[in-house]
Amino acid sequence: MHIMGRVNSISCLLFAAGALAASSKSSFPTWTFLRPNRHMEWNELPTHVSLSSNPFHAGILDADAIVMGITAESNETNASVNWLELLSHDGSDGLSNSSFENALSAIQDSLQQLVYDQSLSDTLIALKAEVENASIATLSSSAVLIKESRQSPQSIYCMQFGNVTNSTAALKQARLLGAAVANLVESVSKKKDDSKKGKSIKILMPFQLEASAWTEVAFSFWTTLYKDMRFKGNSEKEKAKESSGAVTVEFITLNDASSQIDVQDALQKGASIARANYMARDIVNAPHNVLNSLALADTAERLASRYRSLSCKILSSANCERLGMGAFLGVARGSETEAQFIHMTYKPRRGRGKLHKIGIIGKGLLFDTGGYNIKTSMMEMMKFDCGGAAAVMGAALALAELEPEGVEVHFIVAACENMISERACVPSDVLVASNGKTIEVLNTDAEGRLTMADALVYADKEVQCEEIVELSTLTGACMVALGSAVAGLWVDSDDLADSLIRASKATGEQIWRMPLVEDYKEDLKSKVADIKNLGGRYGGAISAALFLQNFVDGNKPFAHIDIAGPVWNFKASQASGYGVKLLVEWVQQRAKEYK
Ligand SMILES: [Zn+2]
Repeated sequence: MHIMGRVNSISCLLFAAGALAASSKSSFPTWTFLRPNRHMEWNELPTHVSLSSNPFHAGILDADAIVMGITAESNETNASVNWLELLSHDGSDGLSNSSFENALSAIQDSLQQLVYDQSLSDTLIALKAEVENASIATLSSSAVLIKESRQSPQSIYCMQFGNVTNSTAALKQARLLGAAVANLVESVSKKKDDSKKGKSIKILMPFQLEASAWTEVAFSFWTTLYKDMRFKGNSEKEKAKESSGAVTVEFITLNDASSQIDVQDALQKGASIARANYMARDIVNAPHNVLNSLALADTAERLASRYRSLSCKILSSANCERLGMGAFLGVARGSETEAQFIHMTYKPRRGRGKLHKIGIIGKGLLFDTGGYNIKTSMMEMMKFDCGGAAAVMGAALALAELEPEGVEVHFIVAACENMISERACVPSDVLVASNGKTIEVLNTDAEGRLTMADALVYADKEVQCEEIVELSTLTGACMVALGSAVAGLWVDSDDLADSLIRASKATGEQIWRMPLVEDYKEDLKSKVADIKNLGGRYGGAISAALFLQNFVDGNKPFAHIDIAGPVWNFKASQASGYGVKLLVEWVQQRAKEYK
């Protein structure tokens, strides 16, 4: 027996060494046969691209590409957010003669608007003359106007702006501008560059934008450039690096003296929120063999260590047990990795006076198999069940960079996995939440609300937040009701509802207020416990919201947002980062009110 034991332990060691060797070949940190992963890499904004603004047009002819922004004629107001496609966009699209003619006449119009700046006007007139003199037949099929007679600029593009009449349209237009410029960067960046000095793009804006629109331009620009190469092999990663040359993008904003807008500052804000969007998408995109509760806790700690206004506390399962978090730990019990209760805090370094205490909670199921009520469809999507946690941690990053005053924000995630093992919770188990409520588990796949129950009690009683917003990928029923573009909002307080809807309108992240139907509370009653974790057959998203109300003081403003639909971009097959912008905007609004 003893000898056998020794032989076994030696072969185990060999196995362990083999696993380590295998993992060293991996292009990203992942589990080994014997250990779960503890470290997730995340994507930074691309460093080969820069985005800035300049009120002067000096040196414009040195640019590799000039984009002339022009405004649509006033009778085209309906097309307020439509663009004339970029002339000479990416080399693949042809350009019809008629749209080229339109562009010429539009350039003509815009020149008249720009006469106050004589030297720029001269430049544009010269460019226009070249465009006119080049016969359409000599333009390449890609319609790139190469000025062969001079070295630069290499290409001239034209971009038509609509006459926007309201702020929603202005934001949408800003979003389109950011995305179009990002696409241009992609195509310019791939072009061969023998000089090694990198490419430059200058964009002549036909008018000044609001600061919020500039922030949106930058956000859209950077988030369009997002690429998650983390799980590609090393050779693919190398190839991608080699094919992306440096590009600088400069908006020539034609700021007149009366305009006080700090465009550079607004662009920086957009970059901060985009950085947060990257983090949120990275968290949702990471598969379970990379991102588990331990790796998420590590991510939160590393994030907090970057910013002086952020701190992070991780409660182990023993700590959670001491606080009586039986609902959360019941869900976590079946997983290889220990449950991690993540509590990050943002405190502004400037300003004084009492801070308004906000709690933001995100569902953090790093994987949801459904447990013993195992999922029979869409299980491969269930790495997205941490979308709430992703939005919360992204918001923490952005707020740490933007530093709003007047608010103290608590970011809370009860992180775990819903797995099957001999330790896992089974249907009919009765769990006791930290406020003493007993819960009959009728379906182990309705686990998100169990983890959230203890997170809510913690934010309410332990931290004593004055208002609480919670985001979760909670129900398929919400996706059925609102589709993949809109999140559901359940909230008793009209004031909190209004402020969230305002934030939604300002960011374009859509939410829709849903009813809290009193009668359906009946469906949550249990014969053996205080409540059960499943409501009636219909209205599943509503009964989930009603369930959560059991864990927050009834007088405290509390909003539940079901993001199961918008968390994933089905077209792009990747995370959307939904929720970050909404939360950041909402907290900033609150900060203004309480400053
Ligand atoms: Zn589930």
